[in-house]
Amino acid sequence: MRAEGIETTRRILCVFPRYTSSFGTFEYAYPLTDGVQAFMPPQGLLLIAAYLPENWPVRFIDENIRPATKEDFEWAEAVFVSGMHIQRQQMNDICRRAHDFDLAVAIGGPSVSACPDYYPSFDYLHVGELGDATNELIARLARDPSRPEQQVVLKTNDRLPMTEFPIPAYELAEVKKYFLGSIQYSSGCPYQCEFCDIPGLYGRNPRLKSPEQIIAELDKLRECGVTGSVYFVDDNFIGNRKAALDLLPHLVEWQKRTGYVMRLACEATLNIAKRPEILEKMREAFFVTIFCGIETPDPDALKAMHKDHNMMVPILEGIRTINSYGMEVVSGIIMGLDTDKPETGDALLQFVDETQIPLLTINLLQALPQTPLWDRLEKEGRLINDDDGRDSNVKFLLPYDQVVDSWRKCMEVAYQPEKLFARYQYQCDYTYAQRIKVPVTPEQKSWDNIKRGLILLRNIFWKVGVLGDYRKVFWKFALGRLRRGDIEGLIGPALIAHHLIMFARAASVGQQNASNYSIRLREASVPAE
Ligand code: SF4
Repeated sequence: MRAEGIETTRRILCVFPRYTSSFGTFEYAYPLTDGVQAFMPPQGLLLIAAYLPENWPVRFIDENIRPATKEDFEWAEAVFVSGMHIQRQQMNDICRRAHDFDLAVAIGGPSVSACPDYYPSFDYLHVGELGDATNELIARLARDPSRPEQQVVLKTNDRLPMTEFPIPAYELAEVKKYFLGSIQYSSGCPYQCEFCDIPGLYGRNPRLKSPEQIIAELDKLRECGVTGSVYFVDDNFIGNRKAALDLLPHLVEWQKRTGYVMRLACEATLNIAKRPEILEKMREAFFVTIFCGIETPDPDALKAMHKDHNMMVPILEGIRTINSYGMEVVSGIIMGLDTDKPETGDALLQFVDETQIPLLTINLLQALPQTPLWDRLEKEGRLINDDDGRDSNVKFLLPYDQVVDSWRKCMEVAYQPEKLFARYQYQCDYTYAQRIKVPVTPEQKSWDNIKRGLILLRNIFWKVGVLGDYRKVFWKFALGRLRRGDIEGLIGPALIAHHLIMFARAASVGQQNASNYSIRLREASVPAE
């Protein structure tokens, strides 16, 4: 549904702030693609864009693709911004630029919802999810779009049920310029891991869209030109297991109807390994990747962070089980935990070898506001607020330099090309081989798709196979794939591996942050060019 009953027309400029270099956004892979410039279409802003009254013209700019221009600001009557903590500097910069044009600026999304204090310059703070605060914001702008004299804080008390969410306005985004498509089925998570802000922000009882909404969204993504991979951004795809089981048959049917045009990915807790009935349906629906927050292989550490649910099956066994359904596991890992010891880095590298997981996002512990971790560390006097020069706001129990050195060593060793491609080879042999065989569709045989594949291959062969300094390792892997005629099994790992290798090299010499949440190096990126 949309906001209704508004007669006035307002022109709204939605601006999504830029990210800078990050492990999880794959930007080193973009030059190998056919024009990818950004990671995923932002769900929040596109949702708000779709919810605005039908007669309100909306312009959407993702500053990862192009900066908002003078002409955009001159066109607009008000500006909407949304983003995460790591984009805080960029969001404040967008506000400053909009104010140069005397425009009212509203901010919503996870960062302002957790920390309204971070955004003193904005005219409207939208705290919480889509709901009564959104209606109030629209009504105020309809009455008067000029800047209010004082900041107005609007808090959502009555959330719009997700079953009434409109389809995000994917048509406003240049979806072909994104690395992945995105979609959301649920919000919230029943667990309470100490470091995580999801239960506090979105609740422990997951809210849900209907399967019919998801199918309509997939149809729309397809109409807008998304092919390849679509990521379910849900905090935990099995936060409500019954809901996951309700949705999966619809996804299977949709994939059959469309010829398996999309590879699906999601985030879920590792205890999904105990649910063969879910895994089997996910295999049929062509889920190919699951991101699991494994965090650490150390049981004491899992207990301490209240992530006991990761131990419902032995971790290695859980990963093997997921792999046996054709799904590659991507793992989140945290270093700098209170339980870490001097030998934690070596244990982690051993874990990487044993699990054969190619892609692990290894971060230093960061305390996020509105988490139990934040509260505990604040009481213990271990929060470092001025984080200049540090990659974490946590005072670790081990010396800071020792933790960062250990992180750098893990990045350097885990992403050595030989080791990484050996893990991808394992995945080809033991995981990808378990996937369902999908038919070749007319879409895949289309000239557009063939041309795209040829561009990707040309870029990979030239930039990695000819110019790359790890070309020998690359060709050993690539020739194996080519001999089997497995072009997709070559392109996917080659793109991701290139990003991981390049990022890890920069990280190991201190040119990348040790935390996805740290803004130390990110500040340099403001303002957007
Ligand atoms: S399981 Fe994941 S989403 Fe849920 S509380 Fe833990 S870290 Fe957060």
